[in-house]
Amino acid sequence: MTMFVVAGAGAAGLSAAYEIRRRGTDPIVVEAADRAGGKIGTDEQDGFLTERGPLALLDRTGDLARLCGELGLSRLYASSAAKERYVERDGTVYALPRGPGDFFRTRLLDGAEKLSLLAEPVRRRSPPDASVAHFFGRRLGKAGPFLGDAVQTGIYAGDPDSLEMASSFPQLFQLEQRHGSILRGLLAARGGKRTSLSSFRGGLRELVDALAKAVGPGLRLETRVLGIAKQGAGFRLQLEDRSGRGEMVADKLVIALPAPQAAEVLSGIAPRLAERLRALTAAPISLVHLAARTEDLGPMQRGFGVLRPGTPVVGALFPGALFPGRAPAGSVLISALVGGARHASVASRPDGELVELVRTELKMTAMPRLLRVVRWSHALPQYLRGHAGRIAEIEQLAAGYPGLELAGAFYRGVSVIDCLRDGARAASRLNP
Ligand SMILES: Cc1cc2nc3c(=O)[nH]c(=O)nc-3n(C[C@H](O)[C@H](O)[C@H](O)COP(=O)(O)OP(=O)(O)OC[C@H]3O[C@@H](n4cnc5c(N)ncnc54)[C@H](O)[C@@H]3O)c2cc1C
Repeated sequence: MTMFVVAGAGAAGLSAAYEIRRRGTDPIVVEAADRAGGKIGTDEQDGFLTERGPLALLDRTGDLARLCGELGLSRLYASSAAKERYVERDGTVYALPRGPGDFFRTRLLDGAEKLSLLAEPVRRRSPPDASVAHFFGRRLGKAGPFLGDAVQTGIYAGDPDSLEMASSFPQLFQLEQRHGSILRGLLAARGGKRTSLSSFRGGLRELVDALAKAVGPGLRLETRVLGIAKQGAGFRLQLEDRSGRGEMVADKLVIALPAPQAAEVLSGIAPRLAERLRALTAAPISLVHLAARTEDLGPMQRGFGVLRPGTPVVGALFPGALFPGRAPAGSVLISALVGGARHASVASRPDGELVELVRTELKMTAMPRLLRVVRWSHALPQYLRGHAGRIAEIEQLAAGYPGLELAGAFYRGVSVIDCLRDGARAASRLNP
């Protein structure tokens, strides 16, 4: 029988293993941490429900609905506050425009910026390697740099001059390429299915637990892949677990590790591939969960949360506004994202300094109580200019190792749903 091994039990690895099992073979999944889920996880503390990474999922394709149906999970849809998003510009908080008309009413943009929006439909298409800043600057004129920065901050906490538009926002880029204008593209797509953010009553951990259960007894926690060697037509993995070092043979192997770790384990067997993987980068984020009394919140506490492009506290989210059961009555849970590509070093400050920074930046009137800091040194992959070319090269080099697939957030999409899809794709390529 063919032996399938999946390295890494984040969204991509769990999804790969689930798909392999769905196709009739029981895989082994080796995961270094003492729990499955990778960036996804939910903690409970003093009546608060905090997420370790992602807060909510946007199911544009229906993939999540199908998976939840198979796993018997019922989703919890976000309240209407999900539509109330805010953005801070020069110290003032504004509602993010929701439709084309709002762009002309908002005080977020000045007169010249609004005027320059009018030329959007007649501006030329962007080149394939355009940066996010270039794309938005070209499309939206004077308003472009700020609006583009706001859009990317919510997903990548990156540097808009460095991110590649076509890889970072493929749908928006395609809309422009197909229709010659975002506005025309949006008008053409009018009436399409609207999607809403969702999670689960017990947080996103429910998805991980259900997938881990469905993967079955082959999930081995606290088992780290140290290296990979060739063995006949397959692979030999060097592993380390609580009892020491050992080996495992795989006919087919999905590497669903963050790119830096994938590079490390592949450096012996595939040095050129490992070198290309090392070129893929991610921004650090420290997620600071704070408890505050409702009356102590400053002017920044609005709706779903506030984006703060260009600042070290890149965003502050209020999960309790979206989903019930996230905070006890009379309290507010604030989940602040600190760091990002442009303020990477700030993410590694000690807990106390992070709390003080968030309090000052959000203009809170009283000191909030720290619930937890979750630190991710490689939180959000950055699809920098040239990303599409780098991924094509990585795919070509990986094709030189039949039976090996790479999956995860560093390659073809950073959202949880992208990673689930990428894991399933890897499994189906190995077991068509
Ligand atoms: C703060 C934050 C907020 C986010 N918000 C959202 C959101 O709201 N919505 C959304 O859709 N997405 C969000 N994302 C993005 C999304 O959560 C991630 O991109 C996705 O979960 C990554 O999944 P993955 O499987 O690629 O990698 P990971 O989750 O990183 O999984 C990789 C796994 O490999 C394991 N591993 C590493 N090295 C080894 C080794 N040598 N041997 C064995 N195992 C190893 C790790 O322990 C880990 O479990 C957010 C991410 C962060 C960090």
